[in-house]
Amino acid sequence: MASTNTRVAVVGAGPAGLTVANLLRRQGIDCVLLEAESRAFIEGRPRAGFLEEWAVRALQRHGLADRLVRQAERQGAFEFRVDGARHTFRYAELTGHHHFVYPQQELVTDLVGLFVEGGGDARFGVGDVRLHDLTSPRPSVSYTDPHTGERHRVECDYVAGCDGARGVSNTYLPRDTTRVSRHDYGIGWLALLAEAPPSSDGVVFGIHPRGFAAHMARSPQVTRFYLQCPAGDDPAAWPEERVWRELQTRLAVPDGKITEGRLIEKRVLEMHNYVIEPMSYGRLYLAGESAHLVAPIAAKGMSLAVHDALLLAAALTSWYRDDNAPLAGYDGACLRRVWQIQEFSQWLSEVLHGPSAELGPSPDPFRARAARARLRRLLGSPTAAQAFAELYIGKHTDF
Ligand SMILES: Cc1cc2nc3c(=O)[nH]c(=O)nc-3n(C[C@H](O)[C@H](O)[C@H](O)COP(=O)(O)OP(=O)(O)OC[C@H]3O[C@@H](n4cnc5c(N)ncnc54)[C@H](O)[C@@H]3O)c2cc1C
Repeated sequence: MASTNTRVAVVGAGPAGLTVANLLRRQGIDCVLLEAESRAFIEGRPRAGFLEEWAVRALQRHGLADRLVRQAERQGAFEFRVDGARHTFRYAELTGHHHFVYPQQELVTDLVGLFVEGGGDARFGVGDVRLHDLTSPRPSVSYTDPHTGERHRVECDYVAGCDGARGVSNTYLPRDTTRVSRHDYGIGWLALLAEAPPSSDGVVFGIHPRGFAAHMARSPQVTRFYLQCPAGDDPAAWPEERVWRELQTRLAVPDGKITEGRLIEKRVLEMHNYVIEPMSYGRLYLAGESAHLVAPIAAKGMSLAVHDALLLAAALTSWYRDDNAPLAGYDGACLRRVWQIQEFSQWLSEVLHGPSAELGPSPDPFRARAARARLRRLLGSPTAAQAFAELYIGKHTDF
């Protein structure tokens, strides 16, 4: 079996793996980046669109966000639409910070380019990835080469498991010492991308007894929409005519008709969260969604993945400079923020989805009215608004 020696094997070229790999390279630490999909595929895969300002500034300090900062639109407000009225929530005015709107595939394209054009060793389309000897000082990752069909081994000091929610890295954590905490919201979101210009400058959250709906500008030509739907619903049950009727109803305000267009993506996301603890085993360290998933309710996943990646790259860099402490504290540092975000996401979920308990197969008017009380407090109390705004933009979340 052919083999390569390196210092760190990074599994997965999403935002987490690409950030780790670029930062290590910039510190002169050799790494090999292994990605199951082709480069063209990951550079075209649409997913997230919102990055919190602190994450962008951190990437920018390392020279990883130049195009993003030049091109991305800034957003510091969103709108709740409820009972036919608009309520604008200006979180940038409360916190001094905003989001950058930048499609995830653009960030991935930039980070792949910086790594590969900078001489980094990235291998795309690798098959059947397996991890070995994780508790030894010299673990390895083996895979099938997509061109030759032969097995290849990458020997290393550390494995960064950044292969997301459907990867293999987290399956190597021992069952008896690993805790997986899960929360299932019991609903789905129909995730839609439409070839339609945005109907509003910012994010719109529609709170409606028929279910939640959202509008998020992605570019001048493309808009993302979400519609709350039953868990496990079939996207085929949502023909274009039904999609637009529900969006127009759930996001309705007297002067705010939604601009319609061809649907270019339509899939159902299960609304569930998990956290894997600890996030490491032997020489394997997880980062991003391989360790924790947060449903896209508060648009947090990509920023959290970057947070882990920044910490992991810094901890590995310290280890090569004879300081083991940051690596020993890695799990704790990540998980403090992860749990704050999980709790916030759950809290916001109730604001957005609770009112739909008014209707449906088993109505729960108590829940629906309590959720509306939560929203009124958020819109009416400056103290509640301040606390919410800070969590929404990722300020003060390391308790
Ligand atoms: C529809 C949608 C909308 C979202 N909106 C937002 C948003 O607005 N803001 C936000 O912050 N987050 C959002 N998210 C979440 C965000 O996309 C994720 O949190 C983010 O992609 C996590 O990054 P990651 O690097 O941990 O994992 P991923 O991006 O999943 O990257 C993992 C990589 O590993 C590769 N891989 C998988 N298995 C293997 C293997 N065995 N070997 C090698 N490679 C492998 C995958 O192909 C992938 O490239 C959204 C997600 C979805 C689905």
